[in-house]
Amino acid sequence: MDFDKVLREARHRAIDVWEAEFLMRKASTWDRVLELMRVASRVRDEVLGPRIKVMGFVASVTPCTVEPWCKYCFRWARRKLFAQRDVLEPWEIVEALRVVESMGVRSVELGGGTYLGEMGRLYTTNLVRYLCRELPRMGLWLNNGPSYRPSDLALMKGWGLAGAACNFETLDERKYIVLRPGLKLRDRIEIVDECDRIGLWIDQTLLIGLGDNGAPNYSEWAWFLHRLMKYRFLKIVEIHPFRPTWGSPCENDAPGSIVETLKAMAVARLMLRDVEISGAQTPQGILAGASLVMHVLPVTRAFRAWGRSEVFASKMIRVVNDVVVVDNLDEYTRPAREMGLSVEPL
Ligand code: SF4
Repeated sequence: MDFDKVLREARHRAIDVWEAEFLMRKASTWDRVLELMRVASRVRDEVLGPRIKVMGFVASVTPCTVEPWCKYCFRWARRKLFAQRDVLEPWEIVEALRVVESMGVRSVELGGGTYLGEMGRLYTTNLVRYLCRELPRMGLWLNNGPSYRPSDLALMKGWGLAGAACNFETLDERKYIVLRPGLKLRDRIEIVDECDRIGLWIDQTLLIGLGDNGAPNYSEWAWFLHRLMKYRFLKIVEIHPFRPTWGSPCENDAPGSIVETLKAMAVARLMLRDVEISGAQTPQGILAGASLVMHVLPVTRAFRAWGRSEVFASKMIRVVNDVVVVDNLDEYTRPAREMGLSVEPL
């Protein structure tokens, strides 16, 4: 295979799994990384148009009851996360999302911990029914792991749910056994397969560097993306570097590589073509073919309030009690606007 020839062909057709692995492996110098990203950006503009989309995020909508905790969970660093006191009341979510809606955002992901068993299922389905009724114009996506059964998805779609994220992060069963001992990969696959079967939009996440201690795993990443090609209702793909959380059993592992993450994003664009790839809040993400900013105007309790700039004070809108909306819309869309892309709601 020839690097330049594969990229030339990628302008006009989806690359296959072998070409994906080849491109990631061979993009090992700065000029080849730039060339890969240039083609990915071109394909994004030609397939989707020169624009990015934005959507919001709420956390947390459910507590996490998984035992033992996943070994890289943020909870190891901050015990309050995904605990009951982190969870927003349903009416608080409605109040905050009315503010988000008034600022022009039309879709939002409801992020939460995995709330297992019948309690989690009842809570999640009731929450979705209530929010769909109260926010009929907002596209609501559910992202709280397998906190419900696959058979509940059709019901929730009927109430108006737009999409669901039940993230694999890896498709390596052995990594699940070691790193996510309280969860089963199969449960997640069943939910995503059911989304596709009934026509509910899918958001899916790949973690770069999970369980590999810094070594690139091109084959796994290429086959992960290849697996996603089979979903007709795949709409959003997120590719993030693994972060070894403070205080977690993984804290001494190497973090996932930023460069490998960008290469995987560019290759995802060349494979999956018309899906929304998140990461367009950074100049590097835009150059790698990203088309979506997922976390504009995050809604959260004030102690969490992620989405703030690490460098300067982001504006916070206090909605009710200690619930805030972080107003990062301008800063998160600025790189795209400064690079000639328009900004639209998802
Ligand atoms: S399911 Fe999510 S919130 Fe729960 S322990 Fe695992 S990573 Fe943490």
